[in-house]
Amino acid sequence: MTAKVLSAGDYIASKCTKCKDTTGHTIVAMVGGKVIKVECNTCGSIHNYRDASSKKVAAAKKTSSTGSSKPRTTKAERAWEELQQNLRPEEAIPYNMNTPMREEMLIRHPTFGLGLVLNCIRPNKMEVHFQSGIKLLRCKID
Ligand SMILES: [Zn+2]
Repeated sequence: MTAKVLSAGDYIASKCTKCKDTTGHTIVAMVGGKVIKVECNTCGSIHNYRDASSKKVAAAKKTSSTGSSKPRTTKAERAWEELQQNLRPEEAIPYNMNTPMREEMLIRHPTFGLGLVLNCIRPNKMEVHFQSGIKLLRCKID
């Protein structure tokens, strides 16, 4: 069995740097039976032939799959989802250090958004559950 002999003008699959993918290419130049230059059938760029099945391609695929992972939901965000179902955002009061706070009050913070007061810590701190997690804020306690 001999492999099909390739020649210029033949179709070959190669890694294209512009398309950032393995695409169909046409062989442009060959030296000593080896494909040297190919033209991408997708974007039309002519570049050196890159074996689509090389180890480099496999490694690149691995790194890209970890980079573009599905949206992660943190524990805090999941807890917030559940908590939020029982909240009434229209009743939230704007966060202000001088507004007396009570536990279970709903506040709206300029940076963190909607938050539920979990705990008032005398003399002037409170734990607030925001979407991004629990934060310790300064406050006046009712
Ligand atoms: Zn291309």
